Amino acid sequence: MGLAPVWRLRKTQAGGPSAGELADGDWITLKQAVPACTACALHKARTQTVLGVGDEKAQWMLVGEAPGAEEDRLGEPFVGQAGKLLDNMLAAISLKRGENVYIANVLKCRPPGNRNPEPDEVAKCTPFLKQQIALIHPKLIIAMGRFAAQTLLATDASISSLRGRVYKYEGVPLIVTYHPAYLLRNLPDKAKAWADLLFAKRTMASL
Ligand code: SF4
Repeated sequence: MGLAPVWRLRKTQAGGPSAGELADGDWITLKQAVPACTACALHKARTQTVLGVGDEKAQWMLVGEAPGAEEDRLGEPFVGQAGKLLDNMLAAISLKRGENVYIANVLKCRPPGNRNPEPDEVAKCTPFLKQQIALIHPKLIIAMGRFAAQTLLATDASISSLRGRVYKYEGVPLIVTYHPAYLLRNLPDKAKAWADLLFAKRTMASL
């Protein structure tokens, strides 16, 4: 009888393994490791961690920045106005949250006051995202917003310069678009996001 694979830990510490200490594993251990993580200072102010939501076998994976206040309270990414806009964006290309779609953020804990993530927080949390992507093994990743795109593509280029092309993250095709929260503040760029979604749909159809 086979046993479920477990994370290989290079070491353990009080409060559980940090992101950087996970080598490989399964969802069960990831779901235990993230709420126990104290690798960066963001753990001090969080209500709860926000790992992600959706179909763990999804072909589509969307990656945003970090939980906001509502996400921190509810434990789910992309709720509130930005979440509604994201759901509408998904519906426009015949997708629905939770159905062949998985949604996550680069950071699993809320930065205080919704400030931008710090580089050391991104560095410490990214291994969790990397493990999620490996477990889901999506056909296409959509990086939404500057932090997701710059983190996954290891670049400091702007969103506007990264749009419209297919990249690869760990072998998975990846495209870039704006974050829904940005679009709420910059309505004229919604048309560009719509173009990105159509590009994503065409890209998925070609994979
Ligand atoms: Fe750990 Fe990530 Fe939360 Fe920092 S943001 S405490 S690395 S789960």
